[in-house]
Amino acid sequence: MNKSLRLTEKWMGRALWLVAFIFAGFLIGLGGKIVENLWDVEAPLTVEQFMDPQRLGELKTQLGAAQHKQREARAALEQAEQAHGVARSNTASARATFDNWLATRRATARPDQDTELITRTKALDALEAEERQALAAIDAQRQAMLDATQQAERVEARWEALESPAVQAHYEAARAKELRVFLYRLALTLPLLVLAGWLFAHKRKSTYWPFAWGFIIFALFAFFFELVPYLPSYGGYVRYIVGIVVTAVAGRYAILSLQRYLARQKESEALPDVERRQTMRYDLALQRLSKSVCPGCERTVDLKDGSIDYCQHCGIGLFDRCGCCNTRKNAFARFCFSCGTAANTTLAD
Ligand SMILES: [Zn+2]
Ligand SMILES: [Zn+2]
Repeated sequence: MNKSLRLTEKWMGRALWLVAFIFAGFLIGLGGKIVENLWDVEAPLTVEQFMDPQRLGELKTQLGAAQHKQREARAALEQAEQAHGVARSNTASARATFDNWLATRRATARPDQDTELITRTKALDALEAEERQALAAIDAQRQAMLDATQQAERVEARWEALESPAVQAHYEAARAKELRVFLYRLALTLPLLVLAGWLFAHKRKSTYWPFAWGFIIFALFAFFFELVPYLPSYGGYVRYIVGIVVTAVAGRYAILSLQRYLARQKESEALPDVERRQTMRYDLALQRLSKSVCPGCERTVDLKDGSIDYCQHCGIGLFDRCGCCNTRKNAFARFCFSCGTAANTTLAD
């Protein structure tokens, strides 16, 4: 990642960052798929797996029978209720007819000998007996339904007794499975993070840096975003602990590089002018000058003041005179802007 002043180089650098992000994006997609499928490595767990299969089978049969009985009793009850309704309305209408007939009938002196009255009364009695019978049928079906319901309840109670330890076992097994899957994921993502650290330390400035950075972005994303949401309880701890470790390592690295930089700077400021110039990169020197910063010590200098030729902080020459035409020129320029003569200073590219 040269801080270049060349336009094409600058744009190519940006394009390479784009490559890094696209590369990271595809890696994240692939990694996400793999992590997602890790849950399916193990078969899904059910509570019934943790129940005695023989007793479970018995209970299932009993429960099925009880529920069947319940259904049958309910259907029979509905039928009986319907039949009772019909019988009741038959009786009611027959009684209404009888009452009407009785009201309009010219009463005789001896009703007990009135055969029609006797026939009608008997018919009414028969209808009432039918109604009572229908009511009795309802009661019988209600009893049958109650029996079936109670039987089903007893089987369900036994089922629950069998199930409750299984629920606990299932919960524990599910937790264990979660932990295992989490460890698979950790085993997959932690090496990625370590590899990313190595790439950062050794390859981030290599020719193929976009791939190194793409991988680093991917590894960070995979570790801190894909690993954690599945398991808040374990994942949270791991995220924070690894986050602390990574921050500590990165912080130590930053502190050491700052110290190294300061030491290097001090060392180079002690060197003679020409030698300091030779260790400097041309583009970087020009870039710093364009920001009114001394290329040697990175402190601000007033470049517009025509009388200042040297940095007042570190003493490096900022302006000199062309050996050929004696024009005052930038001491870091490779050629005299006035006559084109090559300057005697040579800066690294
Ligand atoms: Zn300086
Ligand atoms: Zn010149």
